[in-house]
Amino acid sequence: MNNLELFNNKNYINGKWLVSSSLLPVSNPANDKVIGYVPNLNSSEVKQAIDSTAEGFIIWSKSTIKERYDFLTNWYQLIVKNVDELAYILTLEQGKIISDAKAEVLYAASFVEWFALSLMTHSSYIRIGNNSSHKIITEHEPIGPVAAITPWNFPLAMVTRKAAPALAAGCSILLKPSSQTPFSALMLVFLAEQAKLPAGVFNVITGEAALIGKLICEDFRIRKLSFTGSTEIGKTLYAQSASSLKKLSLELGGNAPFIILNDVNIEQVTDDLIRAKTRSNGQSCTSPNRIYIHQDIYNHFVDVLSAKFSKLKIGNGLDADICLGPLINKKACHHVQSLLEDATKHGANILCGGKFKDNFFEPTVVKNCHDGMQIFKAEIFGPVLACYEFSEISALIQSANNTEYGLQAYIYTKDISLAQKITADLDFGMVSVNSASASNTKAPFGGRKASGFGIEGSHEGLLEYMNIKYINMQY
Ligand code: NAP
Repeated sequence: MNNLELFNNKNYINGKWLVSSSLLPVSNPANDKVIGYVPNLNSSEVKQAIDSTAEGFIIWSKSTIKERYDFLTNWYQLIVKNVDELAYILTLEQGKIISDAKAEVLYAASFVEWFALSLMTHSSYIRIGNNSSHKIITEHEPIGPVAAITPWNFPLAMVTRKAAPALAAGCSILLKPSSQTPFSALMLVFLAEQAKLPAGVFNVITGEAALIGKLICEDFRIRKLSFTGSTEIGKTLYAQSASSLKKLSLELGGNAPFIILNDVNIEQVTDDLIRAKTRSNGQSCTSPNRIYIHQDIYNHFVDVLSAKFSKLKIGNGLDADICLGPLINKKACHHVQSLLEDATKHGANILCGGKFKDNFFEPTVVKNCHDGMQIFKAEIFGPVLACYEFSEISALIQSANNTEYGLQAYIYTKDISLAQKITADLDFGMVSVNSASASNTKAPFGGRKASGFGIEGSHEGLLEYMNIKYINMQY
């Protein structure tokens, strides 16, 4: 690393970097070695951070659009300038391969740039009221001090996706990153400090999640909590926030169907599917989880898929030519293995992979899956392609929708009118449609409705952190 300052092991509260008497170890999933320690705050230290965030709001909510724009632009430039350092630490604590890590740094930076630009088009509006001497002004004001709790699978992007719109809107923010990947978040806050943010506007704390979550949820001064993580914890936070009637944004799990019709280019779709699946080693909420393949091409498709997938090189994400790094920890490996055991017990066949050593899971293709298996219901969160055969479109749609998740779906066909019909019936917030003859290899991660993904890239993201204020003007 060129800039060792970036590897920061303290918490940032009220403009000061602080240590704590208790510490939490952080390990590298590639070898389970401890790479450093971060503070494990007690409740009075957490309350101090909440106090600071409440005070930071008084300052930042009065900042001008120009001040916010300048800060966000500086922050963006610092993130991009330090891409190599940020990517290195990200791989060290999360395990994703270094090219994925660099892509995530730029993805994270893109939210900061976007919300700086969003400020330029954001405006109030005036309407004529009940009579000519009555006008109604609609303004947006920052919602208040906010908090963010982020997951380990995208430790940089999930922070900027919340902090950038919050700070653009004029909110102060208290961040609690995942204990498994805190260093990425600490680096981002270090760069935010360098970009000249006043003390108290952006605080970051680490420690026991349940303690911090409860204190945040129950504190009335924190007016909004943005959480990305598991559905289970999302429900806990929802219940805990009732007493303070907090606004919540919950970005939870996924169980994406990846639908392949019989008219596709098999070579291209298998490449696209593998690219989508290997992003963060399958540990992504939008990861293709249930692969639906038309019966006309099913056997040939799974054979091609398995031949390609099994060749991917596994290893430490910092090494050259590696396609798949480790999973986040042993528990994650056991989770994936138990899904495979249940699937094979219920009639599935493993075509390649199926085992793990240390935290490295083999790329796995499993065929003859059906909705009676755990693998159909759960987020796999590993490099496993679970394949389902279909023939009738109506049965396909019924099966694809048969999940509590509604985040992301993918469709591959050259028949655009059929794709539109399926899209209309799919109960998912983002549907990526690919004509399969196009050469746009980015499609599996985005597609035409990419802006529908949470608050990503959307002007609505700014409004998530604002309240509406009506001003009645009577002359
Ligand atoms: P997780 O276990 O729910 O943890 C997410 C965050 O919540 C972490 O910071 C964790 O802290 C914290 N947390 C855990 N227990 C808590 C509690 N009782 N109170 C308050 N906070 C608590 O999820 P994860 O395993 O890190 O992330 C994977 C999940 O995130 C998957 O389900 C994935 O689909 C979802 N995800 C969704 C999106 C989206 O946009 N929809 C994007 C990315 C990921 P500790 O780490 O300290 O325990």
